[in-house]
Amino acid sequence: MSSVELRKVDKHYGSYHALKTVDLKIEKGEFVVMVGPSGCGKSTLLKTIAGLEAINSGQIVINGRDVTREEPGDRGIAMVFQSYALYPHMTVAENMGFGLRMAKRPRTEIEAAVKRAARILRLEEQLDKRPKQLSGGQRQRVAIGRAITRSPEVFLFDEPLSNLDAALRTQMRVELSGLHAQLGSTMIYVTHDQVEAMTMADRIVILNKGRIEQVGSPLELYANPANIFVAGFLGAPRMNFIEAKAVSVEESAVSVAAAGLPALSFGGIDVGGFSAGDTLTIGIRPEALHVEPSNRAMPVFSSRVRLVEQLGRETVLYVDASPLQATNSDSGTGNFTLQLNKVSAIGVGATLQVGFEIGDAYLFGPDGRTLTPRKPVAST
Ligand code: ADP
Repeated sequence: MSSVELRKVDKHYGSYHALKTVDLKIEKGEFVVMVGPSGCGKSTLLKTIAGLEAINSGQIVINGRDVTREEPGDRGIAMVFQSYALYPHMTVAENMGFGLRMAKRPRTEIEAAVKRAARILRLEEQLDKRPKQLSGGQRQRVAIGRAITRSPEVFLFDEPLSNLDAALRTQMRVELSGLHAQLGSTMIYVTHDQVEAMTMADRIVILNKGRIEQVGSPLELYANPANIFVAGFLGAPRMNFIEAKAVSVEESAVSVAAAGLPALSFGGIDVGGFSAGDTLTIGIRPEALHVEPSNRAMPVFSSRVRLVEQLGRETVLYVDASPLQATNSDSGTGNFTLQLNKVSAIGVGATLQVGFEIGDAYLFGPDGRTLTPRKPVAST
């Protein structure tokens, strides 16, 4: 087990600034998931840790040792890629033992390492097969096995499940979490899939345009996103965003006005950095919206149902709530998403009053920063 530290890491590809002063400390044995949209620098960050990409400035420290200028093979890491890159002419056992054979380790040691990895990954029956005789999930397990045999201090995973179908991805998520629990190794995992991040990570690192937006446990980031980017990135369906104006700003309180909503007053606000007249954004998660609320004190807006998705245990309603200005919608400004934790008989075309608790709503400043106070984190 090793800790991994990135100190003010900068990386340029020509004139393109791919990593911008990245500072991050990963503790021994932690499972850290780096997540962000395509092109945000996730793979680049992983490759710099592996030593496959040189950095322009900063330091990479593994277990207290500065490895910035060390070769990949000397860093005590093993990387698992999206493409399994198995040797087709070799058996599963030969593929898994390849790294150790290259390192000229004794045969008995290689056999023992392959056997152990095969047991952990339930590949004992497959050792004599060739990759083409395996399913996609088994092939990815062989690729992971190849990493395990080298007993690395740190595992790096680059979107390892992207090539698998949905059912296998779910299964492999569970297996990888189990593998982490069993090996106790430090694992750094890159994905664009926020569900993988939420389900597997001890801590999530949210990257955007080469910068770290926020680091924290999945539930902490979900309850307390530092800014509108993180709020919109974590959560499916996405948080609803409504354009609003600051009407009056007082000590720690702000009144806002939004077309289609009654006047709203938020307390406990960090009022630095904006003033009356500025454009703010209200955020409400789909599960925090209530249909026809019985609580009369709730702010409500009118809407018309456009689409209903019955997911078995829950129902997702897509509604048109014009004149509200929804700013996260791909298909029109009045579009909102509601998530009900039950089967619902509400049909397309129904008109609904939709309400929310002001304490469930977020307020974001003109620069995207979260202004509302901390919310309680769901306990596990
Ligand atoms: P992600 O893994 O988050 O999708 P990458 O780390 O692969 O993103 O890439 C980050 C950015 O750096 C992208 O805009 C990409 O085009 C650019 N980039 C990556 N590798 C190279 C390279 N070898 N040369 C030039 N630009 C690159």
